[in-house]
Amino acid sequence: MFETSIAEIIRQVDRIQPTEYARTRNFTRGAVTRLSPYISRGVISTKFVLDRVAASGHQPFQIQKLIQELAWRDYFQRVWQAKGNGIDDDLKHGQTDVENTQMPKALIDAATGIEAVDDGIECLYETGYVHNHLRLYISSIACNIAKSHWRTPARWMHFHLLDADWASNALSWQWTAGAFSHKRYFASHENIN
Ligand SMILES: Cc1cc2nc3c(=O)[nH]c(=O)nc-3n(C[C@H](O)[C@H](O)[C@H](O)COP(=O)(O)OP(=O)(O)OC[C@H]3O[C@@H](n4cnc5c(N)ncnc54)[C@H](O)[C@@H]3O)c2cc1C
Repeated sequence: MFETSIAEIIRQVDRIQPTEYARTRNFTRGAVTRLSPYISRGVISTKFVLDRVAASGHQPFQIQKLIQELAWRDYFQRVWQAKGNGIDDDLKHGQTDVENTQMPKALIDAATGIEAVDDGIECLYETGYVHNHLRLYISSIACNIAKSHWRTPARWMHFHLLDADWASNALSWQWTAGAFSHKRYFASHENIN
């Protein structure tokens, strides 16, 4: 599923289509790069990806979206550097409306009844990868529907991800839960469809 030869990983970087990426990245079948396992493990850096794509003749506006996404990874790393273990707790605001500090069973069992979400969780178990938007939906269901504090569900997802990166993980979960943002994120029926 994820190649391990460096030559193939570099070919994967060279196959990035930045315009398609910008247009389709929010969809599960979109032209996402699937480079996160290599970036998070230090096989390649975000700068390597940026330099390689920039050198391939694309105009800056064509690679803007990709740059923004790569920058999120580096930003979360810098927050971790600055705050240290502070990212293990609610960073900007206390998460509100919390009723438990556990992990919803329906998510563990991939049995929420929402087909796309359940398929995403199965994919996570089988491959160690799940699309960004499914990560958002799963975290939204855990924190804002099941009213779990974000930390235990985040650790569950982190355990299963090939790209497990505590900075991107904990801070994204906190973003959904409203602890690292000004409002909570609710996945809507329309988003999931
Ligand atoms: C709840 C939740 C948990 C997450 N946990 C992790 C995690 O443990 N490790 C991790 O690497 N990413 C995490 N992310 C961020 C994002 O989902 C993944 O980086 C992305 O889905 C990886 O797939 P890709 O390489 O195909 O991404 P692409 O869309 O192709 O992006 C290219 C690269 O940019 C970086 N990137 C893209 N989007 C984000 C983002 N939103 N935040 C940070 N970096 C980003 C990644 O390094 C990624 O490989 C999480 C997001 C959410 C909502």
